Amino acid sequence: MPGDGLDVERLRADFPVLQRAMNGRRLAFLDSAASAQKPQVVIDAERDCYERYYANIHRGVYQLSQQSTQAYEGVRGTVQRFLNAADEREVVFVRGTTEAINLVAQSFVRPLLEPGDEILITGMEHHANIVPWQMVAEATGAHLVVAPVLDDGQLDMAGLRERIGPRTRFISVVHVSNTLGTINPVESIVELAQAHGIPVLVDGAQSAPHMSVDVQALGADFYVFSAHKTYGPSGAGVLWGRLAHLEAMPPYQGGGDMIRTVTFEKTEYAPPPQRFEAGTPNIAGVIAMGAGLEYMMTIGRDHILAHEKALLAYANERLQGLEGFRIIGNAPDKAGVLSFVMADAHPHDIGTILDMEGVAVRAGHHCTQPLMQRFDVPATVRASFGLYNDTTDVDQLVDALHRVKSLFG
Ligand code: PLP
Repeated sequence: MPGDGLDVERLRADFPVLQRAMNGRRLAFLDSAASAQKPQVVIDAERDCYERYYANIHRGVYQLSQQSTQAYEGVRGTVQRFLNAADEREVVFVRGTTEAINLVAQSFVRPLLEPGDEILITGMEHHANIVPWQMVAEATGAHLVVAPVLDDGQLDMAGLRERIGPRTRFISVVHVSNTLGTINPVESIVELAQAHGIPVLVDGAQSAPHMSVDVQALGADFYVFSAHKTYGPSGAGVLWGRLAHLEAMPPYQGGGDMIRTVTFEKTEYAPPPQRFEAGTPNIAGVIAMGAGLEYMMTIGRDHILAHEKALLAYANERLQGLEGFRIIGNAPDKAGVLSFVMADAHPHDIGTILDMEGVAVRAGHHCTQPLMQRFDVPATVRASFGLYNDTTDVDQLVDALHRVKSLFG
């Protein structure tokens, strides 16, 4: 978009898959909220590891192992910069957001809970930020409390405030909703929680790919994200946690690489972050994740966010007046996510027709079934933007939706 500081044409050339045709049409990839495409630097980083220096890490005395250990451990510093963390020992490598939330639920929160205690989440959480809390609640007799969502897709902050009580032991909130695009005021939520002495986890699965995050300024206790949404590979991700918390937490899984000494009588655990990285990790995946984060930092996350917001505004404008078209999620502060329904056309049919036009979108409940119930829709179609999308992608989407309208209208 003019003036947003991104040379999208040049950036698109970094992504080999975007050069593909789809059903004979130019590919308009509009499903980055599910998983982003990968730039050549990420593909090269993973390939380079396997081709030149792959070996298991931490244990080998030979050079290859030292080299891969160095590359893997070096990514902690990259993540530290990416999040402005105070200490690279606060960076735990995990499989992704889901594993990070489960780790915190089991290792940090579960030991805090007594019957009748409460865990507070919001009505716009991804299943990954609902089910792990239900599991610990079930195991301990605690309850899940849910802050409501307003009709326009904003979090009901008054409702959230009212639900903080003497039994609230933990708050876990999504930073950016993957379904509505709403950017939640996480700084205010953290401030509120701190006033009551309640620790907070911020689910950054949809904020890390789009905006600068400063965990020290944010003040939360945990922040988590997945590499596959930040232009890196799947099967890697980050749990950031305050060092004091990580040091006090028991391990989540036991095995090799997370110990200091083992005898049959007793095991002494390694300090964090190794304590939480049992077993051989996703070595090449973590290294490639680092390349994806460096790629984003080079481009500049403020530019990425401005670009995606401008695209969203362009899409909103172009879709005005399309009969029967309704956006789900109209919060004033949104990231590049456009969820919608159309009268008389099922989201899955819309998705299939768009695919025939080369437009890749997601149709379904987006792992937010309670949110679908809140808005009384079975599913939505979701177009979501990444740094490589341009107005041609949006035009292709809008033209294809006019075609849907002509078929169903
Ligand atoms: N939280 C949010 C907001 C998400 O959008 C997603 C993925 O779509 C997740 C959590 C789960 O992420 P992952 O499947 O990478 O663990």
